[in-house]
Amino acid sequence: MRPSEAGRLHVIAGPMFAGKTEELLRRVHRAELAGLRVEVFGHRLDDRGGQDRLSTHIGRTVPARMLQNAQELRDAVTGERPDLVAIDEAQFFGPSIVEAVEEILVAGILVEVAGLCVTYDGGPFEPIPSLMAQAEEVVKLTAVCTVCGADAAFHIRLLDSDADALQATAEQIGGTELYQARCRAHR
Ligand SMILES: [Zn+2]
Repeated sequence: MRPSEAGRLHVIAGPMFAGKTEELLRRVHRAELAGLRVEVFGHRLDDRGGQDRLSTHIGRTVPARMLQNAQELRDAVTGERPDLVAIDEAQFFGPSIVEAVEEILVAGILVEVAGLCVTYDGGPFEPIPSLMAQAEEVVKLTAVCTVCGADAAFHIRLLDSDADALQATAEQIGGTELYQARCRAHR
């Protein structure tokens, strides 16, 4: 039988603080070493790296095109015809990214998607679960529970009062988060 001409979908999913972007960029780096033409996309709502880069919590950065919606993704890929399309924070694109990704796959392009699969109250966070259902490979990453250190498949949003208290201390230690990674017992 002839090998399929269609692309493959790989999804890197997990809660916040699980290293999803780090894993995505590790794969981008490997593909570039292998000589593949790679296009990296993020969403404008993610401004950790500014408007033309993706960056991770531990400081790795790569040039990226920051888009606003799934249509911009379609347009960008149609023009470039890369071997690999990497998309970070895919949950920001909303449900219409599922169809856009399918079109890219049908065109024979490998797609690596990273994104949040769970909301801060523990429910499925579409569109990532839908993409996971259609993927050839799913990597589910966990973070570290801020209470006990166990594997954390969830993150919680701190209450405003907690956040205010954290803000007060954070001004001394530099940096604060409104969210924390939590294990099943501490969510
Ligand atoms: Zn815990």
